[in-house]
Amino acid sequence: MTELTCDICRDLIPLVVDGVASEESEAAVKEHVAVCAECRDMYQNELERGIASLREKTADEKVLRRVRIRLAWQGMLLTFAALAVTTLTVRTVFLLWMLPAVGAASYVLMRRYSLAVPVLAGAAVLVWDRSLLSGVVMGGLLCMGIVIAALLIFAFGKEKQHDL
Ligand SMILES: [Zn+2]
Repeated sequence: MTELTCDICRDLIPLVVDGVASEESEAAVKEHVAVCAECRDMYQNELERGIASLREKTADEKVLRRVRIRLAWQGMLLTFAALAVTTLTVRTVFLLWMLPAVGAASYVLMRRYSLAVPVLAGAAVLVWDRSLLSGVVMGGLLCMGIVIAALLIFAFGKEKQHDL
């Protein structure tokens, strides 16, 4: 096994801690820190730094996930509120209640291309009904479904990756 000088060992330590050093380098560093107290100190400091930054990243993701879940819930509440108001004020159109679900389903199936659905549906209704309100309601409710589905998939999708 190659004998390392302290200088070379210290150059290699960050690479070993980050997991990008070659196996040979890693073995040489570990061999060196076993017999050199100064380099061992640096190695331990670097290890702690690495663990701390890993923890920070995980914490960030947790916060982000919580924010996404909260946004998804708020979106759902807003959607229900919009549906209730529209149903009460315009007229009872039960088809409206299916729109967010249709939007969510289109996102699951088509991902970012699903944005075409509210645009086309909104435009179609606008032309058909000759009412801007109908078009906006149609497109808006479909959009809300898409946004909610996107947030939920993003939030819970990450979690699944971490379990692996
Ligand atoms: Zn040394």
